[in-house]
Amino acid sequence: MIIATPVLILSDNYVWVLSGIDSGNVVVVDPGDAGPVLAFLESSGLECEGVLLTHHHTDHSGGAAEIGGKWKCPIYGPTNEAIPSVTHPVDENDTVTAAGLTFDVLSVPGHTRGHVAYVGHGHVFCGDTLFAGGCGRMFEGTPAQMFESLRRLAALDPETRICCAHEYTVANLEFALQVEPGNTQLVARLTAARSTRASGRPTLPSILEEELATNPFLRSHQPEIVNAASLHAGRRLEPGVEVFAEVRRWKDL
Ligand SMILES: [Zn+2]
Repeated sequence: MIIATPVLILSDNYVWVLSGIDSGNVVVVDPGDAGPVLAFLESSGLECEGVLLTHHHTDHSGGAAEIGGKWKCPIYGPTNEAIPSVTHPVDENDTVTAAGLTFDVLSVPGHTRGHVAYVGHGHVFCGDTLFAGGCGRMFEGTPAQMFESLRRLAALDPETRICCAHEYTVANLEFALQVEPGNTQLVARLTAARSTRASGRPTLPSILEEELATNPFLRSHQPEIVNAASLHAGRRLEPGVEVFAEVRRWKDL
């Protein structure tokens, strides 16, 4: 059992601060900016024992060196990406233990070439790969890579808490509704997400089960989505990666 607290940085990034119950030691995930994270740790009397980075983008890694330096703790990050602050490179099949918490490393390329996710204690920290109601842009990878990475995340326990790194949920669900207007669970989710944001609270973490039911990027085999993507493309698409690629292109417009 862990407590996962999102700390807002920059405009819409969340840094996840993780601890065991009754523990004053924490792990920090994707600190793009050190200031708000250090302020949170200091005001809560918490000590950082490890930093986990999912990928090289500055809004995820920019504060890692300062936090790692202050607490003299290891900084874990993907082997396949050049991140100067990383002291402990990790890859598929590695495990990371810090603050008494252990996570499995999953390789999930697509947003970036070496993107990794950290899985453990009923949570996944998936950076910019899977979002609530959406997925990351493919800056360095191919649709086939991203599709496979999302498929791997979708295969986790349906109860898994999805701790992604941005508050994009409402915009993602608004787009999802364009793709799948007949999905009543999606309509209800969007209403709930708007009300959560209106009260100033984060929409995260989400639960994998609700992503499987409402996130169009995990539903490339559903007939309504296959039809919508085919209509958008102007030709009949195959369920799976072809549909996924078209929906991603559609979202990028
Ligand atoms: Zn990114």
